[in-house]
Amino acid sequence: MQIFKKKKEMNDISNYLKNKGKKIGLVPTMGYLHEGHISLMEKAKKECDIVILSIFINPIQFGPNEDFKRYPRNLKRDEEIAKKNGIDYIFYPSTAQMYSNNHKTYVRVMEIDEIMCGKIRKNHFRGVCTVVLKLFNIINPDVAYFGLKDYQQFIVIEKMTKDLDLHLTIRGLRTIREKDGLALSSRNKYLSSKERENANILYKTLIDTKKKILLSQGDISFIQKESIEKIRGNKYVKKIDYFDIRDAKNLDEIKQPKKGQKILIASAVFIGHTRLIDNIVFNF
Ligand code: AMP
Repeated sequence: MQIFKKKKEMNDISNYLKNKGKKIGLVPTMGYLHEGHISLMEKAKKECDIVILSIFINPIQFGPNEDFKRYPRNLKRDEEIAKKNGIDYIFYPSTAQMYSNNHKTYVRVMEIDEIMCGKIRKNHFRGVCTVVLKLFNIINPDVAYFGLKDYQQFIVIEKMTKDLDLHLTIRGLRTIREKDGLALSSRNKYLSSKERENANILYKTLIDTKKKILLSQGDISFIQKESIEKIRGNKYVKKIDYFDIRDAKNLDEIKQPKKGQKILIASAVFIGHTRLIDNIVFNF
């Protein structure tokens, strides 16, 4: 396994491998790897000849009061995990390598980047799209692997890929969870033990809400209110950014679900100072 810090080196090797007819899989991450990331690497390994893992904590997707500075970092640990999982190359650029002082170009997927996480985290998806498109251009993968835990991110990237005629396949893989249902996240490390015990309130409420929707005759607004109250009732929950029920394909809000409609329930909550997101998708 080799680590490249320079765009040019990464691009040269990708081009070389591509010209040899190799199928390249890319797993973009911000590092501090866990089983969620590993599930993406394993799938990429199965489907591609060469797997490239990128580790880059992208400053332009963080707001001024967010956790960019304290986001967990441990390259040595990530290297070991990557090696064990058969990664061929790690792309580990510095911020200066990715963004010149004179960087002026950003990519946006309009409207769907302004709801849910995008409503609260201004410019977040603009930062995500910009860095992901840059990674695609530098690495030129055939397939890129994303987690459905970040469901809105997945939809935004799929849309960008389609709208900009990018020639690669975007794969979305299921969320990997702890035994009690908490979705794995590098940010779980921030939780105190009491917060950790209570953090699965989010997943439990998502499951509970899904059951209620499936039993309902269609009016779901009071179900949503009940769910928000249930989460708010947990004393470790400091803030609820949103708890939305939407069409899973286009992210339109749903008032009255239709038979067979693919529904997304997605939420972001603060457990103490830690912002956690989670979602479930199911057919009505
Ligand atoms: P991150 O390092 O948090 O930016 O995540 C990198 C990739 O891993 C993204 O595509 C995430 O959606 C995915 N990912 C993060 N957590 C999980 C999880 N618990 N299960 C599956 N994929 C995940």
